[in-house]
Amino acid sequence: MKKINIAIDGPSAAGKSSVAERLAAELNYTHLDTGSMYRAVAYYVQSKKIALDDEEKIVDLLRKTRIAVEPDGTIEIGDLRLKEELYGNEISLAASDVSKLKGVRARLVEIQQEIAEEKGYILDGRDIGTVVLPHAEVKIYLTASAEARAQRRTKQNLEKGIEADYEQILSEIIARDYQDTHREHSPLMQAEDAILVDSSDLDLEEVIEKIVSIIEERLEKND
Ligand code: C5P
Repeated sequence: MKKINIAIDGPSAAGKSSVAERLAAELNYTHLDTGSMYRAVAYYVQSKKIALDDEEKIVDLLRKTRIAVEPDGTIEIGDLRLKEELYGNEISLAASDVSKLKGVRARLVEIQQEIAEEKGYILDGRDIGTVVLPHAEVKIYLTASAEARAQRRTKQNLEKGIEADYEQILSEIIARDYQDTHREHSPLMQAEDAILVDSSDLDLEEVIEKIVSIIEERLEKND
Protein backbone atom coordinates (compact mmCIF):
# COMPACT_ATOMS: atom_id res chain seq x y z
CA MET A 1 0.00 0.00 0.00
CA LYS A 2 1.25 3.48 -0.85
CA LYS A 3 2.78 5.19 2.18
CA ILE A 4 1.58 8.56 3.39
CA ASN A 5 2.70 11.03 6.05
CA ILE A 6 0.84 11.49 9.30
CA ALA A 7 0.98 14.67 11.37
CA ILE A 8 0.16 14.59 15.08
CA ASP A 9 0.03 17.90 16.91
CA GLY A 10 -1.20 18.91 20.32
CA PRO A 11 -0.21 20.31 23.70
CA SER A 12 2.46 18.83 25.94
CA ALA A 13 1.75 15.56 27.77
CA ALA A 14 -1.24 14.70 25.57
CA GLY A 15 0.42 11.36 24.75
CA LYS A 16 1.53 12.29 21.22
CA SER A 17 4.86 10.46 21.41
CA SER A 18 3.43 7.23 22.89
CA VAL A 19 0.65 7.25 20.30
CA ALA A 20 3.05 7.99 17.42
CA GLU A 21 5.44 5.26 18.58
CA ARG A 22 2.67 2.65 18.73
CA LEU A 23 1.18 3.70 15.39
CA ALA A 24 4.60 3.53 13.74
CA ALA A 25 5.06 -0.04 14.98
CA GLU A 26 1.58 -1.09 13.82
CA LEU A 27 1.81 0.52 10.39
CA ASN A 28 5.50 -0.13 9.85
CA TYR A 29 6.12 3.60 9.59
CA THR A 30 8.94 5.69 11.10
CA HIS A 31 8.25 8.00 14.03
CA LEU A 32 9.98 11.38 14.19
CA ASP A 33 9.57 13.11 17.55
CA THR A 34 10.17 16.75 16.60
CA GLY A 35 9.98 17.89 20.24
CA SER A 36 13.19 15.95 20.91
CA MET A 37 14.94 18.14 18.32
CA TYR A 38 13.96 21.35 20.17
CA ARG A 39 15.03 19.65 23.40
CA ALA A 40 18.41 18.76 21.88
CA VAL A 41 18.96 22.36 20.72
CA ALA A 42 18.13 23.62 24.23
CA TYR A 43 20.54 21.10 25.76
CA TYR A 44 23.31 21.99 23.33
CA VAL A 45 22.84 25.76 23.79
CA GLN A 46 22.98 25.33 27.57
CA SER A 47 26.11 23.17 27.28
CA LYS A 48 27.76 26.09 25.44
CA LYS A 49 26.66 28.49 28.24
CA ILE A 50 24.63 30.61 25.83
CA ALA A 51 21.45 32.28 27.16
CA LEU A 52 18.26 30.64 25.86
CA ASP A 53 16.95 33.95 24.51
CA ASP A 54 20.14 35.03 22.72
CA GLU A 55 18.81 34.40 19.21
CA GLU A 56 21.82 35.80 17.38
CA LYS A 57 24.34 33.61 19.20
CA ILE A 58 22.10 30.53 19.04
CA VAL A 59 21.44 30.83 15.31
CA ASP A 60 25.11 31.48 14.68
CA LEU A 61 26.05 28.40 16.73
CA LEU A 62 23.51 26.23 14.87
CA ARG A 63 24.80 27.44 11.52
CA LYS A 64 28.11 25.77 12.35
CA THR A 65 26.54 22.66 13.86
CA ARG A 66 25.54 19.38 12.28
CA ILE A 67 22.15 18.08 13.47
CA ALA A 68 20.93 14.58 12.61
CA VAL A 69 18.33 12.15 13.91
CA GLU A 70 19.23 8.46 14.19
CA PRO A 71 16.60 5.78 13.54
CA ASP A 72 16.29 5.03 17.28
CA GLY A 73 15.54 8.70 18.02
CA THR A 74 19.00 9.64 19.27
CA ILE A 75 19.80 13.22 18.25
CA GLU A 76 23.31 14.00 17.07
CA ILE A 77 24.09 17.66 17.59
CA GLY A 78 27.66 18.89 17.22
CA ASP A 79 29.81 16.58 19.31
CA LEU A 80 26.89 15.31 21.44
CA ARG A 81 24.64 12.27 21.07
CA LEU A 82 21.50 12.80 23.13
CA LYS A 83 18.55 10.64 24.06
CA GLU A 84 17.77 9.93 27.73
CA GLU A 85 19.18 13.36 28.72
CA LEU A 86 16.41 15.06 26.77
CA TYR A 87 13.49 14.11 28.95
CA GLY A 88 14.28 15.81 32.26
CA ASN A 89 11.77 18.35 33.56
CA GLU A 90 14.07 21.39 33.27
CA ILE A 91 14.83 20.70 29.63
CA SER A 92 11.09 20.88 28.76
CA LEU A 93 10.78 24.56 29.55
CA ALA A 94 14.20 25.31 28.02
CA ALA A 95 13.01 23.60 24.81
CA SER A 96 9.88 25.72 24.86
CA ASP A 97 12.15 28.81 25.22
CA VAL A 98 14.37 28.04 22.21
CA SER A 99 11.36 26.98 20.16
CA LYS A 100 10.15 30.61 20.23
CA LEU A 101 13.13 31.66 18.10
CA LYS A 102 12.42 32.02 14.39
CA GLY A 103 15.94 31.02 13.30
CA VAL A 104 15.84 27.85 15.38
CA ARG A 105 12.46 26.86 13.96
CA ALA A 106 13.58 27.51 10.38
CA ARG A 107 16.58 25.21 10.78
CA LEU A 108 14.68 22.37 12.44
CA VAL A 109 11.68 22.58 10.10
CA GLU A 110 14.03 22.25 7.13
CA ILE A 111 15.56 19.07 8.56
CA GLN A 112 12.11 17.64 9.38
CA GLN A 113 10.83 18.32 5.86
CA GLU A 114 13.88 16.65 4.33
CA ILE A 115 13.42 13.56 6.48
CA ALA A 116 9.69 13.23 5.66
CA GLU A 117 10.19 13.73 1.95
CA GLU A 118 10.18 10.02 1.21
CA LYS A 119 6.81 9.38 3.03
CA GLY A 120 5.99 6.71 5.57
CA TYR A 121 6.59 9.07 8.49
CA ILE A 122 4.63 9.96 11.59
CA LEU A 123 5.76 13.33 12.88
CA ASP A 124 4.58 14.59 16.23
CA GLY A 125 4.96 18.16 17.45
CA ARG A 126 3.16 21.50 17.59
CA ASP A 127 3.37 22.83 14.02
CA ILE A 128 3.44 19.68 11.88
CA GLY A 129 -0.01 20.03 10.29
CA THR A 130 0.26 23.81 10.00
CA VAL A 131 3.88 24.44 8.94
CA VAL A 132 6.13 21.38 8.55
CA LEU A 133 3.80 19.15 6.51
CA PRO A 134 0.84 21.28 5.44
CA HIS A 135 0.01 18.61 2.84
CA ALA A 136 0.19 15.61 5.18
CA GLU A 137 -2.48 13.11 4.16
CA VAL A 138 -3.65 12.61 7.76
CA LYS A 139 -3.59 15.30 10.43
CA ILE A 140 -4.52 14.59 14.01
CA TYR A 141 -4.84 17.16 16.79
CA LEU A 142 -4.46 15.13 19.97
CA THR A 143 -5.44 16.90 23.15
CA ALA A 144 -6.78 16.33 26.68
CA SER A 145 -7.65 18.56 29.61
CA ALA A 146 -4.65 19.97 31.52
CA GLU A 147 -5.82 18.00 34.59
CA ALA A 148 -5.97 14.68 32.70
CA ARG A 149 -2.51 15.31 31.25
CA ALA A 150 -1.05 16.23 34.64
CA GLN A 151 -2.58 13.13 36.22
CA ARG A 152 -1.06 10.89 33.55
CA ARG A 153 2.35 12.52 33.74
CA THR A 154 2.34 12.23 37.57
CA LYS A 155 1.47 8.53 37.37
CA GLN A 156 4.10 7.88 34.65
CA ASN A 157 6.83 9.56 36.69
CA LEU A 158 5.91 7.72 39.88
CA GLU A 159 5.94 4.42 37.99
CA LYS A 160 9.43 5.25 36.73
CA GLY A 161 10.51 5.99 40.30
CA ILE A 162 10.81 9.74 39.59
CA GLU A 163 9.45 12.09 42.26
CA ALA A 164 6.26 13.74 41.06
CA ASP A 165 3.96 16.33 42.53
CA TYR A 166 0.60 16.64 40.76
CA GLU A 167 0.09 20.36 41.52
CA GLN A 168 3.59 21.24 40.31
CA ILE A 169 3.22 19.18 37.14
CA LEU A 170 -0.17 20.77 36.47
CA SER A 171 1.24 24.28 36.81
CA GLU A 172 4.18 23.42 34.49
CA ILE A 173 1.76 22.03 31.89
CA ILE A 174 -0.38 25.19 32.07
CA ALA A 175 2.75 27.39 31.75
CA ARG A 176 4.02 25.45 28.73
CA ASP A 177 0.56 25.48 27.07
CA TYR A 178 0.47 29.24 27.47
CA GLN A 179 3.99 29.69 26.09
CA ASP A 180 3.36 27.33 23.14
CA THR A 181 0.01 28.84 22.12
CA HIS A 182 1.02 32.49 22.55
CA ARG A 183 4.40 32.63 20.82
CA GLU A 184 4.80 34.78 17.74
CA HIS A 185 6.22 32.13 15.38
CA SER A 186 4.24 28.97 14.60
CA PRO A 187 2.15 28.93 17.78
CA LEU A 188 0.48 25.66 18.67
CA MET A 189 -2.90 25.48 16.95
CA GLN A 190 -5.14 22.97 15.29
CA ALA A 191 -4.78 22.96 11.49
CA GLU A 192 -8.09 23.63 9.74
CA ASP A 193 -8.09 20.15 8.22
CA ALA A 194 -6.89 18.29 11.33
CA ILE A 195 -9.15 15.83 13.11
CA LEU A 196 -9.55 16.53 16.82
CA VAL A 197 -9.03 13.59 19.17
CA ASP A 198 -9.70 14.37 22.83
CA SER A 199 -8.10 11.70 24.99
CA SER A 200 -9.28 13.04 28.39
CA ASP A 201 -11.54 10.01 28.88
CA LEU A 202 -9.74 7.50 26.66
CA ASP A 203 -6.88 5.14 27.43
CA LEU A 204 -3.95 4.58 25.06
CA GLU A 205 -5.60 1.58 23.38
CA GLU A 206 -8.78 3.54 22.68
CA VAL A 207 -6.82 6.46 21.25
CA ILE A 208 -4.83 4.13 18.98
CA GLU A 209 -8.01 2.43 17.81
CA LYS A 210 -9.61 5.75 16.97
CA ILE A 211 -6.59 7.07 15.06
CA VAL A 212 -6.02 3.79 13.20
CA SER A 213 -9.60 3.94 11.93
CA ILE A 214 -9.09 7.56 10.79
CA ILE A 215 -5.91 6.50 8.93
CA GLU A 216 -7.55 3.43 7.36
CA GLU A 217 -10.44 5.50 6.10
CA ARG A 218 -8.00 7.94 4.56
CA LEU A 219 -5.88 5.18 2.98
CA GLU A 220 -8.99 3.59 1.45
CA LYS A 221 -9.92 6.92 -0.12
CA ASN A 222 -6.36 7.26 -1.37
CA ASP A 223 -6.26 3.90 -3.16
O1 C5P B 1 6.83 17.64 22.48
P1 C5P B 1 7.83 18.07 23.52
O2 C5P B 1 7.23 18.32 24.87
O3 C5P B 1 9.01 17.16 23.59
O4 C5P B 1 8.38 19.47 22.98
C1 C5P B 1 9.25 20.29 23.75
C2 C5P B 1 8.99 21.77 23.39
O5 C5P B 1 9.42 21.99 22.04
C3 C5P B 1 7.50 22.18 23.40
O6 C5P B 1 7.12 22.80 24.61
C4 C5P B 1 7.37 23.15 22.27
O7 C5P B 1 7.56 24.45 22.73
C5 C5P B 1 8.52 22.85 21.36
N1 C5P B 1 8.11 22.23 20.09
C6 C5P B 1 7.76 23.07 19.06
N2 C5P B 1 7.45 22.54 17.83
C7 C5P B 1 7.46 21.22 17.64
C8 C5P B 1 7.77 20.34 18.70
C9 C5P B 1 8.09 20.88 19.93
O8 C5P B 1 7.74 24.27 19.22
N3 C5P B 1 7.17 20.76 16.42
